This record gives sequence, C-alpha cells and structure tokens, in this order.
Amino acid sequence: MDRICIDELKIFAHHGVFEHENINGQNFYVNAVLYVETEKAGLTDELEYSVDYGSVCKLIGEVLTANTYKLIETAAQEVAAAILNKFELIKAVDIELRKPEAPIPMDFGSVSVKIHREWHEALVAVGSNIGDSRTYISNAVEELSSSRYVKDLSLSELIVTKPYGYTDQPDFLNGAVKLRTMLTPHGLLDLLHEIENKADRKREIHWGPRTLDLDIIFYDNEVINEKELIVPHIDMHNRYFVLKPASELMPEYVHPVLKKTVRQLLKELESND
Ligand code: ATP
Ligand code: CA
Ligand code: CA
Repeated sequence: MDRICIDELKIFAHHGVFEHENINGQNFYVNAVLYVETEKAGLTDELEYSVDYGSVCKLIGEVLTANTYKLIETAAQEVAAAILNKFELIKAVDIELRKPEAPIPMDFGSVSVKIHREWHEALVAVGSNIGDSRTYISNAVEELSSSRYVKDLSLSELIVTKPYGYTDQPDFLNGAVKLRTMLTPHGLLDLLHEIENKADRKREIHWGPRTLDLDIIFYDNEVINEKELIVPHIDMHNRYFVLKPASELMPEYVHPVLKKTVRQLLKELESND
C-alpha cells in the first residue's frame, strides 16, 4: 500500500515517569507513516481522495500536548489510535516517538518506541443463557462499540439454541458480531474478558450456564494455536449456533485451516444432522 511519511515532527510535551519531566517538559520527535491508497488522488490531483498531512500533524500535536503520559509507549499508542479513528482513509500507521533528552545519565543519541497499528477484521460469537440474555448481549455490543479500539460493528440476528456439551441447563441466545479492531488478538481477548466480567460472568462448569460468553471466531486470516487462544475457534465448524450467525455476516470468508467458506461449513453441518 502507498505511504505518506511525516519525519521528525517536533513537539514540546511533558511525558515521563519523573516528576521533573512532567513539570519542565522536553522535546519529542514523531516519525509517522500513514498507509493510504493514493492512486485516485494522484490521478485527479484532488486532496479529498487523500489525507491532509497538515491535519494529521495537528492531531499528533494535540494528543501529545493535551495529555501527560508516563510512558512513550502509551503516548505512541494514543497517537496511533487518534489517527486511525479520525482518518477513514488511513488503514494502518507506524508511529515512532523519540525522546532524545530522556533522563539517562550517559551519552546516547535517542530513545524511542516504534509501533504499528492497523484495522483488523474479527468475528466474535456472543451467547447467554442466564438472566436477561438479550440485555446482556446488547450491553456487550454497546461496550464493544464504545471502545475506541473497535469500529464498524454489525450484529447478526440472535437465535435461540439448545445447550451444547453440558445439556442440563436453559436454552441459549446466540449471535455474532463482526467488527474492526486495532487490538491484537490477545488485546481483543482481554477486552472480551473485561466485558464478560462486567456481566458477572463466573467460570464454574465448563460449557455451563453463563450470563455472557464472548469467543473470538476469526481474526483476519490468522491461525493461532496457543494455550490461552486458539483462532479460528477450535470447535466453530461443529456449532450451528456459531455458523448460522457467522454465515449471515461473512458467508464467503474462507476458514484459513479448513479452506472452506462459512457458507459451506454451515451447509455441511446441516446435511450431517
Ligand atoms: P468454548 O471455547 O468451547 O466455547 P467456553 O467458551 O465455555 O468454551 P470459557 O470458559 O469461556 O470456555 O473460556 C476458557 C478459555 O478459553 C478462555 O479463558 C480463553 O483463554 C480460551 N480461549 C481459547 N481460544 C479462545 C477463543 N478463540 N475465544 C475466546 N476464548 C478462547
Ligand atoms: Ca464459548
Ligand atoms: Ca468463552
């Protein structure tokens, strides 16, 4: 993808873990790479098809001067989030934040962090079978959509299904949410756990009754096999209550391990039953 680059934007700000840094301030330098398709702007010479780098610089300045962060990690994260949220045409950003006057009592050139953030597409399954399930689910969708690290949500139809695995429990209300997020898969999982906890989710019986269950089904085309996170969800292809809402939101998505579309997986499951 094309890139617009901003080099060594100088901003006087107050970030640092030491009080004297917060009081006195120092110079920070930002290098930003904005990933934007510029072909249309190139062919038409019209700014509306590209990104006004002047307003990006202004936004970076605002984020870094309106707040005082201890860490340059946080300052860089906030800059990236602000840019991705404000400029629709920017699909990804690299932010390098340099601090050449950092309080290190040695001779050094600079310290910096360099981060990359971009919008990823994810599918999250939602389920509930205790209490007011519809409200638990709509609150969860509201929580997700109010996160600045999430955008473009769509919620499937909610369906009532028989419990899976451990069957001696009330029926479930199930659905799925398609969204874009700038969080990593682990960052998204943490956010989902936070939302589950707010809904008084207890982990007692595996597959047992719950106020709210949020599972990552897909995350871009990524395949992750770790103890605490498996993506695509390990059992999704055997679950009608996942495939049905998933096929409403992304029927043509190709499962990166099974190499079949969601539509095909649903059809196969239905014909096996
Ligand atoms: P299942 O994963 O079979 O639907 P469950 O949703 O009832 O079962 P939980 O008790 O909610 O299981 O989650 C147990 C752990 O599963 C979570 O803490 C998380 O670390 C892990 N996990 C692994 N892969 C995923 C995923 N794709 N989405 C959500 N959690 C996952
Ligand atoms: Ca689950
Ligand atoms: Ca879960």
